[in-house]
Amino acid sequence: MDDIFRSSFNELKNNLNFINISSENMTLFEWKPPRSYRSYILDVNLIKEYATNNIFFHIHKGNSKIVHIKKNELIYTIGADNYVQYQLLEAILEYIDLRFNEIFDIKVILSFENVSENIFQNFKIEIDKLLDNFKKYDLVKIINARCRVCNSILPIIVKKSFIEKSEDYPVPLVYNHKGHAILLFIDRNFDVRGIELVNITG
Ligand SMILES: [Zn+2]
Repeated sequence: MDDIFRSSFNELKNNLNFINISSENMTLFEWKPPRSYRSYILDVNLIKEYATNNIFFHIHKGNSKIVHIKKNELIYTIGADNYVQYQLLEAILEYIDLRFNEIFDIKVILSFENVSENIFQNFKIEIDKLLDNFKKYDLVKIINARCRVCNSILPIIVKKSFIEKSEDYPVPLVYNHKGHAILLFIDRNFDVRGIELVNITG
């Protein structure tokens, strides 16, 4: 869980708990790291109640975290160890959504009377490819920012789409850090333009 992990992404695969792609009624696809037997079906069912189109949700759960997003008829969920940053998980889900829709004609498949999970089984290869070569996919940038509270430099992962698709610059991003939070302003070149300490509630 050190900074080296966060910059190299070598251990990414082992730090994820699951990836799930569901329709309203059923799981279409599920990925788990090697040698994982835990079921996350309850987590996924809970999420379906709150899923809102095109909004990323972040959920803290003990030592793990979950990110989910609804995209039209599908709900994408990813679970990871606590220290994997949310923006990284969002980037993975965005890529998965893109690839899944490139490979499968979801609208047509879901219109079948009986949809079998088998149709989607090979998608596992796509996920393994992504996780094994994550750096090459160039989905995120690592920004170094000083936290004034801890007086240390933090590697903060920012998904590229978040900055590139922004309509306004600099883009604000709150980084929750061990019970306090800093607000970063990031310009279109991924440079930090300012950092403020912010109050949090919730
Ligand atoms: Zn701090």
